[in-house]
Amino acid sequence: MADKCPVCGENSREAPGAIDFSQGEKKLRFCSLTCLRIFQQFPEVYLSENIDEVDILEDSRA
Ligand SMILES: [Zn+2]
Repeated sequence: MADKCPVCGENSREAPGAIDFSQGEKKLRFCSLTCLRIFQQFPEVYLSENIDEVDILEDSRA
């Protein structure tokens, strides 16, 4: 499995506040609680393989 945070793309393996989380059959690792919270608001966006959609969402949040 990838050790990248699905929300921000940081290497969550080395993040001090990394959080393991299971969504259905997927095991995810977030770099921080902040990213987990974002994921929980838009799980379908981050579970899709469409990276472009994630980028658009992050841009509109800024
Ligand atoms: Zn993150």
